[in-house]
Amino acid sequence: MNLSDAETFISPNVRPTVAIIDLDKLASNFRAIKALCEPDTKILAVVKANAYGHGAVECSKTLAAAGADQFGVAIVEEGIELRDAGISQPILCIGGIWPGDEERVIRHNITPVILTTEMAERLNRAAAERQTTVDVHLKLDTGMGRVGVVLDELPSFIDTLLNLKNIRVTGVMTHFAAANDPNETEFTERQIADFYRGVELLRSRGIQPEILDMANSPAAVLYKSSHGNMIRPGGLLYGFGDILPSGSRVEGIEPVMSLRTKVAMVKDVPAGASIGYARSFVTQRASRIATLPIGYNDGYTRSLSNKGEVLICGKAAPVIGRISMDWTTVDITGIPEVSAGSDVILIGSDGSESITADDVAAQCGTISYEITCGITSRIPRIYIK
Ligand SMILES: *Cc1c(COP(=O)(O)O)cnc(C)c1O
Repeated sequence: MNLSDAETFISPNVRPTVAIIDLDKLASNFRAIKALCEPDTKILAVVKANAYGHGAVECSKTLAAAGADQFGVAIVEEGIELRDAGISQPILCIGGIWPGDEERVIRHNITPVILTTEMAERLNRAAAERQTTVDVHLKLDTGMGRVGVVLDELPSFIDTLLNLKNIRVTGVMTHFAAANDPNETEFTERQIADFYRGVELLRSRGIQPEILDMANSPAAVLYKSSHGNMIRPGGLLYGFGDILPSGSRVEGIEPVMSLRTKVAMVKDVPAGASIGYARSFVTQRASRIATLPIGYNDGYTRSLSNKGEVLICGKAAPVIGRISMDWTTVDITGIPEVSAGSDVILIGSDGSESITADDVAAQCGTISYEITCGITSRIPRIYIK
């Protein structure tokens, strides 16, 4: 999309700061991921956290049309949002369920991932009261060290499970700690082996899960042996690059979100002028400053102060001074064609120049995920096809 197209999506009557979500790119990223898999491997599209900030409902509809088999959410509320929007595919709640969620997962047909015996017992009780049986997936902790049943405890977990007649284990999963790290191949391969040891143990006790899934985005790309019969990509769907080791990329994957605004005002200041809170930047020369209507309350994080860069008129302009709650200042001394109303790209491309979420993340010491997840609800999402 070029800038004049973007123009048509930004209403002249509101603050011009928007996130543009390219649903065609989302669909083509899905197809690029699908091409990495055997034809019968299912894809669970991870759309937790409002699809990593991209908008869960719109993204899920696009992904469903592209052929996503299941959806993954972190909390029950996110699953209900998808059901209310008409998503009919299985929804896996990968963050388990909290006390009080039982009735809602049953009513909305959301498949919870069981992380503890307590969770299994609680859901079983709720299902028994309603004289129903609930399908669940079981999370094995093979090395993430966060949630799930560790292998040493699996035998006693199975003892408990076999007494719970109102839940049925239809899937088993695990999650990788470092599938993106070429120095951790041995660890990742051990996780895969331990996962299958766990699956064998379940089978030997008469529990026959149909769905076996391990792979997040980097594992889906780098470990075919982790595909099981379903993969669970998130970041790759949205076009992040920093999930893979530097140098590797997947053909056809492109960023889905761009973040844009327009220059609110331009001012000329002399050498020695301080800009913004705490006077953290002082001009070394007579300078032209553009003020942008975006700040840390929009998720343009304060840690980009004096570090970030934006594109205006196809050229890079450095963020100078502190980013404040609602405003950001950039130095446009070298770009004389900028005026109030000029288009600004904070994430995205303009001609041959581009700034990705990966670049922004690198500038402030985090990962692309945190950048797009952090774009707050104050910024309208504009969906284009
Ligand atoms: C978030 C998440 C994923 C997706 O991970 P990506 O790195 O975004 O592909 C997969 N599985 C689980 C359990 C997750 O929590």
